Amino acid sequence: MFGKEFRRKYAVTDQGVKNLVQGTIWTVIVNLIAMASIGILYGMMTDYVGILSGGTALPSAMLFGACVVVFVLLSFLTHFKQYKATYGLVYGEVRDTRISLAERIRKLPLGYFGKRDLADLTETIMGDVNRLEHVWSHCISYLYGSYISTVIVAIAVFIMDWRLAIASLWGVPVAFLLLFGSREFSKRKSEKTKEAAISVSDGIQETIDNMREIRAINQEEKFLDDLNMKIDRHEKITVSGEFSTGIFVNAASVIMRLGVATTILVGTKLITSGQIDFMRLFVFLLAITRIYSPFDQALALIAEMFMSQISASRLMEIYEAKTAEGSENVAMNGHDIEFENVGFAYDGDEVLRGVNFTAKEGEVTALVGPSGSGKSTCSRLAARLWDVSEGSIKVGGVDINTVDPEVLLSDYSMVFQNVVLFDDTVMENIRLGRRDATDEEVMAAARAANCDEFVRKLQNGYDTEIGENGAKLSGGERQRISIARALLKNAPIVLLDEATASLDVENETKVQGALSKLLAGKTVLVIAHRMRTVEAADKIVVLKDGKVAEEGSPKELFEKPDGIFRRMSMLQRASAGWSL
Ligand code: ADP
Repeated sequence: MFGKEFRRKYAVTDQGVKNLVQGTIWTVIVNLIAMASIGILYGMMTDYVGILSGGTALPSAMLFGACVVVFVLLSFLTHFKQYKATYGLVYGEVRDTRISLAERIRKLPLGYFGKRDLADLTETIMGDVNRLEHVWSHCISYLYGSYISTVIVAIAVFIMDWRLAIASLWGVPVAFLLLFGSREFSKRKSEKTKEAAISVSDGIQETIDNMREIRAINQEEKFLDDLNMKIDRHEKITVSGEFSTGIFVNAASVIMRLGVATTILVGTKLITSGQIDFMRLFVFLLAITRIYSPFDQALALIAEMFMSQISASRLMEIYEAKTAEGSENVAMNGHDIEFENVGFAYDGDEVLRGVNFTAKEGEVTALVGPSGSGKSTCSRLAARLWDVSEGSIKVGGVDINTVDPEVLLSDYSMVFQNVVLFDDTVMENIRLGRRDATDEEVMAAARAANCDEFVRKLQNGYDTEIGENGAKLSGGERQRISIARALLKNAPIVLLDEATASLDVENETKVQGALSKLLAGKTVLVIAHRMRTVEAADKIVVLKDGKVAEEGSPKELFEKPDGIFRRMSMLQRASAGWSL
């Protein structure tokens, strides 16, 4: 019962399983002690009847008094133990689960985040773990404890009187069969509820994220209507889900309680035919109400347990997703990046095939080609943000698939189109390049990246908060901050996406100046958009439809008649723009 399958089903750790076993054992003890109270009551009643019929009861009154004291003490002690084993220990488990999930997510390859978006992952770490917490603390031990104690009590009542036992207990298996029968139905309902909840949080996030664009295109109403629709749908699905599980749970509870009626019927019949006395029926009636009570708790929770299995499977999916692993100790010989027969597919869509080229240390290698030809993909693969599907990529002769991604990334600086800035000061945003850099080092990098001038004009200079994702800065300023960050990191490999189309001439010159400092002596792989960069590159790799179409120095390629590069640069020169 508590094997691997159990761990998967409820997404518990080994320690969690131990806690649950303890919780279950204490629940059984608590239930049995509660049952024992009926034994005491039975004894007292028999004695009382004895007194009524003229006997003396003094010694037994003392005995019963002692029993009651012991019973109360035991009951208190076992409840306390049960509480500790079920509630107390679970909170540690919840904390550990959240931490280990976050750790796990950190190691997942980027490709995974294409499949599950932010709202979905947040829902798992917060919502699913919350739901499971409730199940771990309230349901599992109670339910399994109730199974075990009921079996023990059922055996006892069968020994007392099998006819009354059947009359009182028949409802229990029927109730559970009904609930288990409805499990698939409940699961489907709760899957739907979950989807609807995620779509609501997705919708809210999207609306807030894109508020500026939504206002700009004057579409507030449409977006709010969409959101309202999603919220209404979620409400409807939740209510209908709760309603249908509620019906099954209540029906099960009523069926179980029909046992009281059948016990009275069968009992009266047995009394009238003289087979049992009234006291026996009385004690049975008392006993069955005690049998039902732990199940009543459990029944209310069983629906939640079924639903929690969806949460558990979502959690396990994260645990079981393949992470990018590798060795932390690698000896690279220089930092040449070699693509060897690289093939790659996003979710089955092949985008690169048989790509071969080398980006040498100390040189600028420019990737050019039409949009969608696979330039960004090559650049992401070079940093192991995704793993190649075929072939290999080597850095300094070492296959990057064998290197721990975090260790590998310490050798890379990336200056991409979408600069990510955090809602913190300019100083801290640049310091992200190297956490232990001093303020002087940060400012030196900022000067080298041509940031100094605009930073000094900000209200609090380097201590100015720049708003979420640098909302208070212009495109060029943000890009220069990201270059300052890269300069501070001073990693031997630089990956650069040079889309600076939105920058004005002055800004472009400044960014260019900052870049040339960053690139000196490094292995540079640049997704080139401007003729200036392309002509200054040491090597050009032209990609077309996911394959290398041409490769060589700008001069060689330009001299190639009918070459793609030649055609592209002629076109560019003919037009007024500079960008490729
Ligand atoms: P380029 O940088 O040359 O414009 P990309 O490497 O971005 O080309 O894209 C190559 C192909 O891969 C395109 O067809 C694009 O639609 C597809 N693609 C890019 N990123 C993803 C992604 N995250 N998921 C699925 N397909 C993608």
